Amino acid sequence: MKKVYLDNASTTAIRAEVIQEMTKVMAQDYGNPSSTHSFGRNAKSVLELSRKSIARQLNVPAQEIIFTSCGTEANNWILRSAVVDLKVKRIITSKIEHHAVLYTVQALQREFDVQVDYVAVKANGEIDITDLVELLSQGNKTLVSLMHVNNETGNVLDLKRIGVICEENSALFHSDTVQSVGKTELDLQAFPIDFLVASAHKFHGPKGVGFAFIRKNSGLQPLFYGGEQEKGLRPGTEAVHQIAGMAKALELSYANLETERTHISELKKYLISQLEIEFPEFSINGSPDGFYNMLNVLLPFSEDKTAMILFHLDMKGIAVSRGSACQSGSIKASHVLAEMLSDADLKKPSLRISFSHHNSKEDVDLLVDALKGI
Ligand code: PLP
Repeated sequence: MKKVYLDNASTTAIRAEVIQEMTKVMAQDYGNPSSTHSFGRNAKSVLELSRKSIARQLNVPAQEIIFTSCGTEANNWILRSAVVDLKVKRIITSKIEHHAVLYTVQALQREFDVQVDYVAVKANGEIDITDLVELLSQGNKTLVSLMHVNNETGNVLDLKRIGVICEENSALFHSDTVQSVGKTELDLQAFPIDFLVASAHKFHGPKGVGFAFIRKNSGLQPLFYGGEQEKGLRPGTEAVHQIAGMAKALELSYANLETERTHISELKKYLISQLEIEFPEFSINGSPDGFYNMLNVLLPFSEDKTAMILFHLDMKGIAVSRGSACQSGSIKASHVLAEMLSDADLKKPSLRISFSHHNSKEDVDLLVDALKGI
């Protein structure tokens, strides 16, 4: 049975070149980058070359890239330090953020009594920018936290527009860009933004490593305390092989971006055309102009199919998801779709299908065939 992986928004396969790079670093550059001897200096050089390479892809100075263990950590760090150290009194975010932002903001609200305002979300899952402008016209020192590409619907936020609006209103701007780094061009000199975060396993790198972009002189302080690594902002011996793998993965993602994006966009179009033929009553959850690698669809099946659909597809070797990975095992409705669908539609089966360059039209055919059997 051919296995079909269509869950690339959850995580991606590591590129062979990345594994090679990581293996080399693990075998040869095992020194502690904080040691002053040649072993340490070698590891330090791998670390700093990786930082430079990542910074180059985003067009920022290397010192503005801080390595973390994952996207979740980077989001937690930025939001918490913004409140504790930068004295942010109010956070504007949305109810369709990843839980790494949403639950962090809720914890900060409980602990520090920060004011939290949720910007309105339109029926197609887009952020209501007029409402954001309205919210920004009132209130205390504010941080806006809005994600770039939604991990469930693929809806894309215009980062440049939001960055300018935040700047005009003297608000800090943080974006969870975990789903877009490595998958679309990001020139961080082209628009104002203070903080963003990335996670290597979303762009064909290893799990357990990510980074934060922290604009110079931001005043952010560390989340926890220890050594002087990462200029004291993120203590703990750096995972040199993971970081080298992440840098390699990002470099390859951007080197191959045009061809891979064209291929993946074609697959998404093909999937939509096949669904139109086989399930003419299906609908897209989110904007029809969503990100090229992802499609979230509401299928014209009865409610009683909802609990079994993933299991049924899994039995046929097909991996998709119902939302974010952490929710896909539960039958709890997605908090993102809950902002967009009626109660009746929310109970029906929705699927998130997310592609990578490894996928083919045959994968789409196998998925659509399997859905016909439900
Ligand atoms: N933010 C978004 C939008 C995500 O999709 C994810 C991963 O699912 C995360 C944050 C968490 O990233 P990590 O797995 O590196 O903690």
